[in-house]
Order: sequence, then C-alpha cells, then structure tokens
Amino acid sequence: MIWDALRDLPDVDVRDLRVRGYGGKPIRPRGVLEHHTASSAGSGDLPSLHICQKGRADLPGPLCQVLIGRAGTVAVITDGYANHAGTGSWPGITNGNEQLVGVEIENDGRGEKWTPGVMRVATAVTGRLCQRFNLPVELVLGHKEWAKGRKIDPTFDMGQFRVAVRTSLTPVSPPAPPSEDDMPLAIIRADSGDQTWWVTDFVSKRALADGNELQDLRTVHRAQTNLDGSPMVKPRAWVDKIPTR
Ligand SMILES: [Zn+2]
Repeated sequence: MIWDALRDLPDVDVRDLRVRGYGGKPIRPRGVLEHHTASSAGSGDLPSLHICQKGRADLPGPLCQVLIGRAGTVAVITDGYANHAGTGSWPGITNGNEQLVGVEIENDGRGEKWTPGVMRVATAVTGRLCQRFNLPVELVLGHKEWAKGRKIDPTFDMGQFRVAVRTSLTPVSPPAPPSEDDMPLAIIRADSGDQTWWVTDFVSKRALADGNELQDLRTVHRAQTNLDGSPMVKPRAWVDKIPTR
C-alpha cells in the first residue's frame, strides 16, 4: 500500500526495498510521523537502510515505512507494521505504530542542515501519503510531538512543515470563468462627454461621470438622455473594461 502510494512520485527516485511488516501485522493509517535517523552527517545517502529494514538488537524491524536519503532517494521499507512510534500520545491516535506512517529522514539531528532538496522530497512524500490515505495534515506529526519530552526528532519546525505539506496539496487552478450569476443582466453604453462608459448591474454602485450613483439600471436607463445603447439581456460576452472614476 505504501509502495503503491509513492512509486510514481514525480521527480523523485523511489525504490522498492520492502521487507515484511513486523509480525506480519497491517497498518491502518490515520496520520504520518516524521523522524530523523541520527546517522552521522556525511555518511552517505541511505546509511540507515539496513537498520530500518532489520531493526537493532533492542528493537526488531522494520523501523519505519519510508526512509528518505540525504540525496533525496526514497526507500520504501515496508507496507506493513513498523516499530517507530513507541510510547506517546496525540488526540485521535490510540496506537502510534498501527495508525501513523513512519517516515525516517537521514540527518544527524545535531545541527546538520536540512537541505531544500531533502525537505522537498519529505514534503512530497508526506503530501502523497495524506492524499492517498485521506489523512488530515493536522495529523502529520513529529516524533518529538508524539513522544514529547522523550524524543527530539525531527529537528525541523513541524508547524512550518505542515504548512508546506498543505501548500503542496492545494491545487493551482486557473481562474474560474464567470458563472451565470456573475454575468451582467444588462449592459448599457452611455456616452458622457468624450468618454464612453460601459455600465452593468454587476457594478450598479459605480457612478456615472456626472456623479449620479447607479442605484438601478432601469432608473439610469430612464434618466439618462444621452444613452445611445439599449439594454442587452444576458449578454454572452464578458465586459472587463468597466471604467472607474
Ligand atoms: Zn523518531
């Protein structure tokens, strides 16, 4: 399930390095938990790969679902259960290992810079997980938030990270064409001196050149003797050149 969610992330090197979940147990994602691995700075792209797959003497693996390398490589470690969250608490989460997708990121956690490249990949991976499993961005947590006082990872600001994830999920859409409701019901062309004014009921509070508030198109139409256009009901063309005073 994790592999399927991430395998086609654009512009990211995603590798299938899956092992069986701990105890063969499934996960039921409700959120995402971010970690750093604490591997030495300069120790390469994915120095924690083996330990994330196999675990360590005191904790059987896998130790996360996803590992992100210093070069931005994404290793999918397991689709199943991983021992990464440990004891902790957060509203809405009753079992961290079962309900939080564990994302480990290679960083020493002792001042190593979080590069824009790694943060871009971490944001993309987390955003994709939120999207595919319908997870609220509010439940993108840091291990330091889940296990407050016990853990310090990750060392980046989780509030800023959630903003970045949310932004990555906001579709950039072209401006909507004017709807039927936005369409002016009528357009009257009025000549005033050397200016031609396009007047619509959409901007009925705009003033004519002589200072009269346009309260009602019909009133204007009746009152203005220098109108040389006639009202057109439901014009199909959008009028975008409405003069302002
Ligand atoms: Zn952690």
